[in-house]
Amino acid sequence: MTKRLVLATRNQHKVAELRDILGAAGLDVELVGADAFPEVPDVPETGVTFAENALLKAHALAKATGLPAVADDSGLCVDVLGGAPGIFSARWAGRHGDDRANLDLLLAQLGDIAAEHRAASFACAAALALPDGTERVVEGRLHGTLRTEPAGTNGFGYDPVLQPLGESRTCAELSAEEKNAISHRGQAFRSLAPVVAELLG
Ligand code: IMP
Repeated sequence: MTKRLVLATRNQHKVAELRDILGAAGLDVELVGADAFPEVPDVPETGVTFAENALLKAHALAKATGLPAVADDSGLCVDVLGGAPGIFSARWAGRHGDDRANLDLLLAQLGDIAAEHRAASFACAAALALPDGTERVVEGRLHGTLRTEPAGTNGFGYDPVLQPLGESRTCAELSAEEKNAISHRGQAFRSLAPVVAELLG
């Protein structure tokens, strides 16, 4: 029988991406987004790591829906900033989700930093929680360097400034398929597929 699994996001692109990955792994699961449960409130992200926040969201959704739940948490980690913005990526400039302000502030902060010291990565933790409290968490990372000027119009967030290692383009100059193939979230979701198979199979 097809098992139902809920993903802690209202972003249909994320739902489609994980659905494709679970399908490619041959899993017989029906994935639904959290918008299928409008009565379930978002949980505050009070953790201090991506893994803690992903687990918090997955447990809250599993408890509220009675279904196995997946949640992810991600951000940009800049080496010379000691891993910041990290869990603060979405609100680095103060206002949650102001992508342009976040990116401009980051570029200004790194204004004097030479190319060889501009290493950074996108990181993603993906957690699976069952209603009985069972939990697993996996991580993915996309390593690269930061440009001094944004380039490209695809994607979101810090995509216009992160150039993946081995690429001459920024993430915002890659197609969605190209980015999903190498991205932190793609890697984390692909690592989660066998875990879903193990716990739900
Ligand atoms: P979330 O975990 O998907 O909410 O992402 C948190 C924040 O990290 C976003 O608001 C972006 O600023 C940044 N971020 C995470 N993943 C990406 C990505 O793939 N590209 C660009 N920015 C990202």
